[in-house]
Amino acid sequence: MLSTEFSSPAPGFWPGVKPEDWNSWRWQLKNRVTTLEQLERLIELTPSERAGVAVAGSKLSLAVTPHFFNLIDPHDPNCPIRRQVIPRFEESLTMPWEMADPVGEDGHMPVPGLVHRYPDRVLFLVTDRCASYCRYCTRSRVVSGAGEQELRTNFEAIYAYLAAHTEVRDVLLSGGDPLLFSDDKLDGILTRLRAIPHIEFVRIGSRVPIFLPQRITPELCAMLKKHHPLWMSVHVNHPKELTTEVRDALGRLADAGIPLGNQSVLLRGVNDDPAVMKALVHKLLRCRVRPYYLYQLDLIQGSSHLQVPVKKGVEIIESLRGHTTGYGVPQYVIDAPGGGGKVPVNPGYVLHHDAERVLIRNYEGRVFEYPEPRSHAPTGIKETVAAVESGAPIQDYV
Ligand SMILES: *Cc1c(COP(=O)(O)O)cnc(C)c1O
Repeated sequence: MLSTEFSSPAPGFWPGVKPEDWNSWRWQLKNRVTTLEQLERLIELTPSERAGVAVAGSKLSLAVTPHFFNLIDPHDPNCPIRRQVIPRFEESLTMPWEMADPVGEDGHMPVPGLVHRYPDRVLFLVTDRCASYCRYCTRSRVVSGAGEQELRTNFEAIYAYLAAHTEVRDVLLSGGDPLLFSDDKLDGILTRLRAIPHIEFVRIGSRVPIFLPQRITPELCAMLKKHHPLWMSVHVNHPKELTTEVRDALGRLADAGIPLGNQSVLLRGVNDDPAVMKALVHKLLRCRVRPYYLYQLDLIQGSSHLQVPVKKGVEIIESLRGHTTGYGVPQYVIDAPGGGGKVPVNPGYVLHHDAERVLIRNYEGRVFEYPEPRSHAPTGIKETVAAVESGAPIQDYV
């Protein structure tokens, strides 16, 4: 069933935990599900999941916070939450077109930990740790510490690079998840960035409000608020993830004046369905989050079982545009394989376009014509404009 209302899954698999423990983000991190034994005790695994967990340790660690784990349906092996965080055997299958660094970030790193692909903005990878690990992580080569590479972010070299590069006006903190840092540590990074005069805009990319809503404390919000303009992009894929705890955490961030956007990844069996996506964007708007991007899955190694045809993504956008609130329609993008950046992919609403006119269709399929501006206005209009421009009283002509 599609959840359109907010509810709390707690305590779920953790009955008897004291509320002060449950509500502590450090308790949630300490009690993450990270081993096969823990998993087996909680839910009945499929053979594919059991094999997946065995290989996960050498690729991308298994870790799920108790809060998020509670969203799993133990009776449904295809549960959309399960597909995102429980490894499967298919993860060990690498298709010939899949890559360790699918969007070519390593080739755009002038300093370790800083991706400078676009002219005026950078991606600053502050940590390799997350509260829980998404099985389709685009950065699994460095994230979680289990993969083949190590993220060696050189903070001082990055601050020096940013100070010297006056064209950078926008810094996006990501990782890993920046909100796993202590308030003080994050405050320190934001303070260093804010001291660089040409940096106008800072944003944080985080799934912590979803995986670990307990982390969004009033103290954290008060600290973040000192560094405005600060924006945040969160990552929600399915309406079930928007629990009452998550809604309240997002509300605290919004109350701190932080504009919130959402980045979803289109995933097979999770959100590759217009009804699921519509329920998701409606719930996001109620949480004061603007759907920002819908990503086509990057060609990360071992993700083919989660890949959705682009045609389906276009169909989902078409099912939203015009049919629901414009604020609820994300931009569908493909991050170009190998490193071309995000490219918008849109349904074709322009049927024909030439020098004279554009032929368009609306969300219902009705066709309209819009004339282009003309250099040769019909006689009469041209003379009137000339007369008005030369100072004739306007009332003579209206
Ligand atoms: C996504 C991304 C950004 C931010 O792109 P926006 O379209 O401005 O949100 C910046 N740098 C890199 C490397 C990115 O992948």
